[in-house]
Amino acid sequence: MGEFELIRRFFTRPTPKAILGVGDDCALLQPGPGMQMAISTDMLVAGRHFFADVDPRTLGHKALAVNLSDLAACGARPLAFTLALALPTADAAWLQAFSQGLLALADAHGCELIGGDTTQGPLNICITVFGEVPAGGAVPSPVADPQAHNPRHSGTQAVLPDRPATQAILRGGAQAGDDIYVSGTLGDACLALEALLGRIQLPDAVFAAARARLEQPTPRVALGLALRGVASAAADISDGLLGDLGHILERSDVGATLDTAIAINLLASHAYLTGASGQFDQQLSPQVTLQCVLAGGDDYELVFCAPPSQRAAVQAAAHASATPVTRLGQIDAQPGLRLVDGQGLPVANTFSSFDHFAS
Ligand code: ADP
Ligand code: MG
Repeated sequence: MGEFELIRRFFTRPTPKAILGVGDDCALLQPGPGMQMAISTDMLVAGRHFFADVDPRTLGHKALAVNLSDLAACGARPLAFTLALALPTADAAWLQAFSQGLLALADAHGCELIGGDTTQGPLNICITVFGEVPAGGAVPSPVADPQAHNPRHSGTQAVLPDRPATQAILRGGAQAGDDIYVSGTLGDACLALEALLGRIQLPDAVFAAARARLEQPTPRVALGLALRGVASAAADISDGLLGDLGHILERSDVGATLDTAIAINLLASHAYLTGASGQFDQQLSPQVTLQCVLAGGDDYELVFCAPPSQRAAVQAAAHASATPVTRLGQIDAQPGLRLVDGQGLPVANTFSSFDHFAS
């Protein structure tokens, strides 16, 4: 199977929304009137982001999911994506499963494959997604204070002083007093990875559920859309809650306090493991559980902020998108990230998020 047959067989599809899809030198996209394009790229490298022998169907799903998760964090609606693929060999069975996993998720989000590049080489998948968000101005900002001191403030604010305003949810809009929320559950993907690496052992049912979180994350697109005009800032959690919340704090020039007594219950496997049998208590100590929740990567949940005046609106967004959200802290004017226990007493922060180039 040659390059062009491969593209035709597995990656050429009708594009009802895009003006032009696969087959020409460029694809053509037309954002709706008054909309801005939201664009993000994520690369998955074999041996680094996934095991080379992973089920190709889940790999196809995950390659797009991690990109859709970035659109979700910005409150953007997916439109289309491109796929750059390096493959060691043109294995039809592998490509069939990979493209099915990929395109099933694409269809579920109305996100059209409009182009890409295909080459022989070590397995590597690079996707760029294109989404749209309304330009600013149509919806009143959730925050009355125009935040003139912070040009990156989101919510119908200009990203830069001389640029058009946007309704995209950005990392730079958090303000002291805002609540901090996360969607869904956290840490199970990290738990699955630990089990796959043979460092812990999990009961079969727990492992299967955790592994699904690692290999088939759910991008929180509907929640992101529902949070437009509600959340002051958001990021998706790819490298761990503390690290990704840290990006919000840095861009917003604020600090935060997180309640570890709430955080520890965000591990979906936690209740099961501690309830099921004492034998797992040893390896799933509170410290290990918190490490997974606070610093484990690959969850692709959203961490976001909203002023307390928006609590009912956040609940409505969670309900409308059928996505659980948990409030677990607040933004402080004082820089830095503080962890506290259920009584508000300080907890030492010995947890660190994943950094590809950390020594
Ligand atoms: P060019 O050499 O002009 O960059 P290519 O010959 O690489 O174009 O690709 C031919 C067409 O197939 C282009 O429209 C390109 O976007 C598309 N394409 C290539 N690889 C993929 C892929 N993996 N998935 C989807 N479309 C692809
Ligand atoms: Mg090319």
